[in-house]
Amino acid sequence: MDEFEIISRYFATATSPRPDVVIGIGDDAAVLETRAGHQLVVTTDMLAEGIHFPTATEPDAVGHKALAVNLSDLAAMGAEPAWATLSIALPAVDPDWLEGFVDGFARLALEHGVALIGGDTVRGPLTISVQLIGWVPRGRALRRDGARVGDDIFVSGALGDAALALVAADKRMDIAASDVDHVRRALDRPTPRVREGIALRELASAAIDISDGLTADLGHILTASGAGATVSLPRVPVSEVYARARDAGLGWGPAVCGGDDYELCFTAAPERSAGVHAAMRVLGTPVTRVGTIEGAPGLRIVDSEGKRVDFDAAGYDHFRRSRR
Ligand code: ADP
Ligand code: MG
Repeated sequence: MDEFEIISRYFATATSPRPDVVIGIGDDAAVLETRAGHQLVVTTDMLAEGIHFPTATEPDAVGHKALAVNLSDLAAMGAEPAWATLSIALPAVDPDWLEGFVDGFARLALEHGVALIGGDTVRGPLTISVQLIGWVPRGRALRRDGARVGDDIFVSGALGDAALALVAADKRMDIAASDVDHVRRALDRPTPRVREGIALRELASAAIDISDGLTADLGHILTASGAGATVSLPRVPVSEVYARARDAGLGWGPAVCGGDDYELCFTAAPERSAGVHAAMRVLGTPVTRVGTIEGAPGLRIVDSEGKRVDFDAAGYDHFRRSRR
């Protein structure tokens, strides 16, 4: 199979129909229709096998995740996704792998109305780079620098399952087989919070997606906003599976410092709190208030008695991997 057959048989099928694609895959470049009163939002993320996903991850999980991590970045901007490009290095032409990959990619692309408009295909160690382009109404993008003293800090969904999956995969902890399935799903097939991000445009003061762990990513909001925060550890939302592992000795480390959650962390003025809860209820998405933005710089994580808990302490480091 040559490069052009691979493109037409596999990648050209991984797309949603969109009227704003004038020319898609097949010419020297794509031609797109723009939208009045809107701004383009552009992101790209690269995944390398063995670094961003474990070697021998199911191909459809790789396809899903390659698009999901980019959708998550647009979600954190409050943007509506539209077009993607896909650059991929393949070690060999493996039809089963390509079929699985395209399946995972296409399913998520259809769910979010994303058209695949081009890319590049080369031979090399398995590496995937997706660029995603979307829209926001002019001036309405959610940013990292808008948090204000007194704002509530919220997190969507639950944290730590993906990090727990890596702990389980490395046999650093024994967990039940059905629990492994649950956390492996969180690691391989994260749910990008696209609809949530769009709904938060009119509600949140700042937002970020949690790809590198709550402490690191909330830290980016604090730095950009010139603020600090206190987060209450018992409020950090975790799944039942995570809670079992936490109580069996895992602790809070992976939920607070782990990565790959792809949930949203956002801030909102207290008077927007009811609106935030109502908007997330409509979408069926859990949302939890975990803390408050404060003037004093730095992130303080406190236990139920208000005592500081230090997550940079050695003890938690073995849950961190030098993956990035
Ligand atoms: P060129 O040599 O002009 O750069 P290519 O042979 O690289 O063209 O690609 C031919 C067409 O296929 C282009 O429209 C390109 O965007 C598209 N394409 C190539 N690889 C991919 C891919 N992995 N996914 C989607 N489209 C692709
Ligand atoms: Mg090319």
